[in-house]
Amino acid sequence: MRGRLLALLFLALALLRTLWRRARGERQPGLERFRENYADDGLAPLSAADRAQMADFGRCIACGRCDRGDGPRIATSRGQFQGTMNLVLAATRSLPDYGAAARSFEFLTDAELERKEGLCPTAVPLRRLAAFVRANAPAARVSLPRAQGTKSIPSSFPPADRTSDSARQQR
Ligand code: SF4
Repeated sequence: MRGRLLALLFLALALLRTLWRRARGERQPGLERFRENYADDGLAPLSAADRAQMADFGRCIACGRCDRGDGPRIATSRGQFQGTMNLVLAATRSLPDYGAAARSFEFLTDAELERKEGLCPTAVPLRRLAAFVRANAPAARVSLPRAQGTKSIPSSFPPADRTSDSARQQR
């Protein structure tokens, strides 16, 4: 009961603060707040047209037909390309992964993507998907540090003790 009352109190205070800020004209546009909150996670806001396109990209039924001819590419890619289907199903489903997905698409030319589109039973627009990934890749960052330093994430993992490491090596 006490917990609920506290929750209600916090909600009421948050509402009052929001109303107060709006009344003073301090309201930050939603998109600006989105960018501020999610830029570190590599998530960029998408337009209505982008969202409509993403529905087309999600038509894949994992039949594997577009993997035809990918064997040599997979073998020479040193892990950067794991087949077209994998690219459609996994790497392109999450905006923060677009950097890696764009590197994988470098193993496929537009002509090859066009040929693969002809094999696809659900007409996934592979060339459009590749263009979309390339266009949004610069915003993606999962493992790259931010220009102003990596995000500080609370962790229970103890920091590395470099002094004792070097002392151990000298012994
Ligand atoms: S051919 Fe089309 S449906 Fe089949 S795995 Fe490739 S993209 Fe998906």
